[in-house]
Amino acid sequence: KKITIAIDGFSSTGKSTLAKQLAAYLGYTYVDTGAMYRAVTYYAMQHDFINTTSFDKEKLIDSLKDIRLHFVFNPEIGYAEMYLNGQNVEREIRTIEVSQFVSQIAEVSEVRSKLVEQQQEFGNTKGVVMDGRDIGTVVFPNAELKLFMTASPQIRAERRYQELIAKGENVSFEAVFENVVTRDAIDTTRSDSPLIKADDAIELDNSHLTREEQFMRVLDLVNQ
Ligand code: C5P
Repeated sequence: KKITIAIDGFSSTGKSTLAKQLAAYLGYTYVDTGAMYRAVTYYAMQHDFINTTSFDKEKLIDSLKDIRLHFVFNPEIGYAEMYLNGQNVEREIRTIEVSQFVSQIAEVSEVRSKLVEQQQEFGNTKGVVMDGRDIGTVVFPNAELKLFMTASPQIRAERRYQELIAKGENVSFEAVFENVVTRDAIDTTRSDSPLIKADDAIELDNSHLTREEQFMRVLDLVNQ
């Protein structure tokens, strides 16, 4: 029987890696909700609604109707890529610049309600793995399996740093560490749908787990 799997947790805890592994193994659809917040952020940056000195929330809210998001499965990489108004933005949304603004964008209630509604549509058939910050609490409170992922900030920043370096991004470890800690702080304290573990979510601290160990543990949970 196919189920809905909700994966929430702090930044760079390996949610998407685990979600992709599970989706591939189970033949489920993977939905990366962080990519959706990132795509809205990229749009806001391109239109200069947000920069290092200002954030015009009203303009962003007015423009939400012009933002179309969808995912297109790419068989070469085995998962879906993010499209913004028909353009593949998978690469553009993963930069440190987008990471620096995304949590401010994600605080805006109008942004959240638009994206949550779309996420619920994407997940209206069973056999979905969705990762984010509010999946088990807001998007799919009835998900059959909820995971809440954590790891020490040091370890998370190190993993994200290695990932960015591998992609050729020019960043320092300090900048990545700072970004991870700042995003966690904004995500856990915002008024609308703060990042919080759902009561019935299973906490998974992967500071000292390999990918394989973690995957085996989670498969046990799926099969329970
Ligand atoms: O998962 P990822 O790190 O790509 O998410 C980027 C940011 O988007 C998070 O730091 C958070 O501010 C926001 N987000 C959110 N709710 C989600 C997914 C992401 O607020 N469901």
